[in-house]
Amino acid sequence: MTAEPVIDAQDSLAPAAVPPTVRASLSPSRAADFKTCPLLYRFRSIDRLPERPTVEQARGTLVHAVLERLFDLPAAARTPESAGDLVAPQWDRLVTEEPELAGLFAEGDAAGAAEFLRSAAALLQGYFAVEDPRRLEPAEREALISAVVDDELLIRGYLDRLDVAPDGALRVVDYKTGGAPREAFEARALFQLKFYALVLWRTRGVVPRVLRLLYLKDAEICDYTPDAEELLRFERTVVALWQAIEQATARQDFRPRPSRLCDWCSHQAHCPSFGGTPPPFPTTAITDPLRDARSGPVAPGADE
Ligand code: SF4
Repeated sequence: MTAEPVIDAQDSLAPAAVPPTVRASLSPSRAADFKTCPLLYRFRSIDRLPERPTVEQARGTLVHAVLERLFDLPAAARTPESAGDLVAPQWDRLVTEEPELAGLFAEGDAAGAAEFLRSAAALLQGYFAVEDPRRLEPAEREALISAVVDDELLIRGYLDRLDVAPDGALRVVDYKTGGAPREAFEARALFQLKFYALVLWRTRGVVPRVLRLLYLKDAEICDYTPDAEELLRFERTVVALWQAIEQATARQDFRPRPSRLCDWCSHQAHCPSFGGTPPPFPTTAITDPLRDARSGPVAPGADE
């Protein structure tokens, strides 16, 4: 099992940047999709069925954007008031970049839009209840990190925040903004954090000391401490997961795996477990296993 760093910041992943041995790529979100439900992976990664952003996802993206910008301010200015002041301008920026977000509210529904901004500001209060950003200087924010494992598989994704202590210890922080029951998503969230820990270990040679889930709605912190043996096992799991994805792709066989998470799935209408029929399997998916590496992974906060 070998690994090498590929890209360590927000560079673009031009095909030339991918080592020639790499045959495929996987993001933590898509790997978690396959683990959750192989058919969900197919709908999102192979069929690429559109998913209309939900209010909850948009709120997550907005809160992540505000928290990212908050650390642009001088430390003393990182107050709840400053965070609140960032909400509306960040929302305007997101809507300019992704005009479909404007469709979340009916035209003229100023009250709905205002309530949405208020709910985002309330989540930010949850953040200030558990952390004081005036005492933090993150090393990375919304950074795209990647590594090659097993010579052939590029793994990559955006981490929300990376803190580096004076002694070099790493803490990976993931903001959770969703309103869904935490127990329904915690395993998926930890899986994603271990994914980032694996990339950091393989690229920097340091096992992160802490993987931190920061639940803004509940104003709670969940810390997890990985070790090298666990990350080695996790690496094997990720490679095995990819092999299972390859086999399923070759057989065009992605089965539904119903669970509580179906309540949050956008594709019930195409799912046999809900009486639906999947679309014909797209043949182009087989010819470009690196397609995922040529497009951006899920943006921070948009996949909770
Ligand atoms: S509805 Fe459930 S079983 Fe069907 S694709 Fe979605 S997550 Fe999978």
